[in-house]
Amino acid sequence: MKPNSVFILATEMHRFGSKSKGKSVLIRAICGKDSQVEPKASFSPDSRNPYSQTEEVCFVYKRLTGMQDILPEDQPYWRFVRKKIDQITALYGFERLDVPIIEETGLYVRGVGQGTDIVDKEMYSFQDKGKDNVTLRPEFTAGFMRSYVENHLYKRPQPVKLFTIGPIFRYERPQAGRFRQHTQFNVEALGVEDPAIDFEVMSLAHQFFSELGFQGVHFQLNSTGCPQCRPQYIERLQAHYRLHYDEICDDCKRRLDRSPLRVLDCKASQCQPVIASAPKIADYLCDDCRLHFQSLLRYLDNAGLAYIVNHRLVRGLDYYRKTVFEVWVEGIGAQAAVCGGGRYDGLGQEIGGPPTPGIGFGSGIERIVMAMKAQGLTVPGLPKPQVLVAYLGKEAKERAVPLVQELRWYNIGVILPFGDRSLKSQLRQANRERVRYVVIIGEDELARGRAQLRDLQEHQQQDVPLDTLRQWLSERLPIKAEK
Ligand SMILES: [Zn+2]
Ligand SMILES: [Zn+2]
Repeated sequence: MKPNSVFILATEMHRFGSKSKGKSVLIRAICGKDSQVEPKASFSPDSRNPYSQTEEVCFVYKRLTGMQDILPEDQPYWRFVRKKIDQITALYGFERLDVPIIEETGLYVRGVGQGTDIVDKEMYSFQDKGKDNVTLRPEFTAGFMRSYVENHLYKRPQPVKLFTIGPIFRYERPQAGRFRQHTQFNVEALGVEDPAIDFEVMSLAHQFFSELGFQGVHFQLNSTGCPQCRPQYIERLQAHYRLHYDEICDDCKRRLDRSPLRVLDCKASQCQPVIASAPKIADYLCDDCRLHFQSLLRYLDNAGLAYIVNHRLVRGLDYYRKTVFEVWVEGIGAQAAVCGGGRYDGLGQEIGGPPTPGIGFGSGIERIVMAMKAQGLTVPGLPKPQVLVAYLGKEAKERAVPLVQELRWYNIGVILPFGDRSLKSQLRQANRERVRYVVIIGEDELARGRAQLRDLQEHQQQDVPLDTLRQWLSERLPIKAEK
């Protein structure tokens, strides 16, 4: 483990444990790849400051660049988003498909396409122990299409409407909102060319973001044509760019031959006037593509879903056809797109399957959660235990431990304090955990087979028989822990 592991002297480690945020105790940051040193788990027995007495050497591991931990305090957002995904996909009749995180590298090279940033720069590819070239999935669509072909899903009634949630991996330059591992919500409808399914996939996305609470949900939308009409457009586009060759950026000079449509989404300022004066693909669509696009716009108009036709929105790959779209929401400044998708009718053949029309989208849940926070959207908290069982003395504890277990078996969420602490300390914990009821078992109460039951909300206390406690709590608890 090299760059993220920090070599430190354990004599200094007490600073991590102490409240003063002292300077970092980075002594050496070497830790060679082949280092045999394991992190040390046990140090001196000084319980207050366990690391201070020892001369042991240890590592502190850190997460890899672009990776993140999703801490408990963020989980309510994640849970809310996942539940919404389950609700909306069920509403639209989409079924879940899970594909492996790792596939043959060739699938992505063909399925995503050479010349894309993903394939050229961003894939986590390696040779496994069997000398197979494999890649951590950088997106979902290629794996979905592989699964559709391999499992003969094309023999089922079409369209096959699928969704999934899971991590994808791209070796991106880390910056705000970009992660090397991120979790994607992915939706794909395979097997139908009808523009009504483009509308269905888009309206699913619209309803999803609207019901998460976002304001200003709208689409950016374009058609990228098809193999019949796109080549003529690309010729015109290249001709236009050659007229301005000295003005455009080096990236665009390269793209012009390899992936010409991509010049349209160049962000370099010198390229903006050239993009603005470029021919628009809408003027070059064949009848089939034009009618498809017009139908989709009509469905959106009739449903009152807001959109902006954006001639710059493209996906520079051969198998993308017709519809491309993004969903934009208010609240996260310049980076307002939270979802991108399109039609990829040429992909099935590209990876060796039957011709298969398909349309889908992907949306990063980390970005959704960031956007929700930026818009100040709130989500319900997770269900928590409502009862804490405090105990005084060894015998009381002997009764408390099985009591807690019994209550949980009857679906009552309970917290048991650990470590034989004072009643005061246990009550402090009850306040901190915001429970409604505290059951107090002391030696006296135990002898009488009773317990004190304190209602922290109503500030009342009463003496109840231990063997009726479960029933008493079952009847009164406003919220039980969820099953
Ligand atoms: Zn066309
Ligand atoms: Zn450029």
